[in-house]
Amino acid sequence: MTHSTLVAGAHEIISRHAECFVAYHSQRQQKALHASVAYKKNEVLVSFSAAETFNEPTYLTIQTGENKHISLAPSFLQYTNHSCRPNVFFDTTLMGFIALQDIEAGEELCFFYPSTEWEMAEAFPCACGQPECLLEIKGARFLSDEQLDHYKLTDFIQQQLASRK
Ligand SMILES: [Zn+2]
Repeated sequence: MTHSTLVAGAHEIISRHAECFVAYHSQRQQKALHASVAYKKNEVLVSFSAAETFNEPTYLTIQTGENKHISLAPSFLQYTNHSCRPNVFFDTTLMGFIALQDIEAGEELCFFYPSTEWEMAEAFPCACGQPECLLEIKGARFLSDEQLDHYKLTDFIQQQLASRK
């Protein structure tokens, strides 16, 4: 990088990739992942794999099974923030990062953390501002079937939900 690029919404581009770019949002003091190009609903933006596998979750991992948490390759996927109205999904069976709806070039990409996380390392307050915001995000374990009903969930989370009944 020889210089930084400012785009609308006061965010600075940190790194550019064919599929996505990482931007720093100065107001939120947070990095975020954005679409480099437009995507159609159900399209696989990126195939991912485990950079490393851990027994315990960290704020950088996603859960792929019981006591199985992976850090992501490509590593820019770690900047996918949470929203209670997500536009992308980590399919940990197909290992695909998938569009849940049509996405415009430049749009921020967010996933629903409890769609992969059963019990998170740390709860965090959500300020996504959506009417359906759950306010505190701790993992699918702490949500009712009704709350999870309209979200796409990984096979692992669905298995966990089936076995708690
Ligand atoms: Zn929210």
